[in-house]
Amino acid sequence: RSWRTPEEIIARLYEAQSTASSQHSVADALAPILKGLSGDPIVKRGIQWFLSSQIELEYADNYDQLSLKHWGVDEKFGGDDVIVSGGLTNIVEPMMRGLDIRYGHVVDKVSYGGSRARVTTNQGVIESDRVVVTIPLGVFQQERVRFEPQLPDEKITSIGRLGVGVMNKIVLRFSKLFWPADAYVLGLLNSSTENLTEYFPMTPYSGEPIIVGLTRGHHAKSIEGASEKDVIQQALSDLEFMYGSRLPHKVTGSVVTRWHSDEFSHGAYSHVSPGGSFSDYRTLARPLGDQIFFAGEATHATYPGTVHGAYLSGERAAREIMKLAGSDSG
Ligand SMILES: Cc1cc2nc3c(=O)[nH]c(=O)nc-3n(C[C@H](O)[C@H](O)[C@H](O)COP(=O)(O)OP(=O)(O)OC[C@H]3O[C@@H](n4cnc5c(N)ncnc54)[C@H](O)[C@@H]3O)c2cc1C
Repeated sequence: RSWRTPEEIIARLYEAQSTASSQHSVADALAPILKGLSGDPIVKRGIQWFLSSQIELEYADNYDQLSLKHWGVDEKFGGDDVIVSGGLTNIVEPMMRGLDIRYGHVVDKVSYGGSRARVTTNQGVIESDRVVVTIPLGVFQQERVRFEPQLPDEKITSIGRLGVGVMNKIVLRFSKLFWPADAYVLGLLNSSTENLTEYFPMTPYSGEPIIVGLTRGHHAKSIEGASEKDVIQQALSDLEFMYGSRLPHKVTGSVVTRWHSDEFSHGAYSHVSPGGSFSDYRTLARPLGDQIFFAGEATHATYPGTVHGAYLSGERAAREIMKLAGSDSG
């Protein structure tokens, strides 16, 4: 039988999920379905685009990197999606007041197990009774920060089993609006979704004719190897295909992100890869004795890969420390 709507295909994926092993990827279940799609080629392209947008862009990685068993089962967080005007700094700054925050300290090593933990940075050693480690999963995977003694085997295994997707943004500012003012998203239905870029007009949030292109997985990584000029040119040719002569001749401003090459990120955010499971997030969260605690999106098993997951994981680490501090004073 054939599945004709994206919703039917997604329902079919959930069916396949119920019997999937932890080794299966979303691609294992989806590829045969997509291959069997028949009918109008444009409708087929639309279905492929929608699925890639819903699954690959959401997880910032390709189907073959996503565990079928763990895809689409993350708990939904209440409330609508919002774009924080002025950036997330507006949320973080009020929380920073009164804290001694030292910028420019690049951590090379965390030593623990002695009378106090020691954090070796490019600006000297900082000693402390407790340390909360919040480096991203991508940085753990690169072993950029050494631990002495080394991390327990179970943590090392979980670090390797989870995946880090890549999402890069191509931000383009134009001199005038050339797309429909009420458009939520603009997409080009190519025959393949390999280089899919989803274009979001930002005008409702910024008041300016700005479009943000989202890329994911291999495509996002590949644009990091190209010059900014070439990346912008590719995006402009997509938009020109859609809007022809209405596209202004040049952009008046641009930003292209490179999260995979960023030594302090090595990717965008985590997901469960084939072979992994949500319990890997719990393993990453587990403290080492009463000195080293862990927070960050990849330590939150309910809302991994999100800002709220990162925030809640920080609260959890704080509670773990306060509990110990309470028992110290008691
Ligand atoms: C393109 C993109 C789009 C996203 N979209 C959304 C979205 O729509 N909704 C959502 O909820 N989430 C989204 N996310 C995910 C969200 O941004 C992350 O989950 C969240 O920011 C993770 O917070 P964190 O504190 O765990 O890690 P980070 O914010 O990455 O903080 C880790 C910090 O550690 C620092 N660091 C790393 N290595 C070292 C070192 N050796 N020494 C010292 N410091 C170091 C880094 O500089 C960084 O400041 C998106 C992410 C990306 C990249």
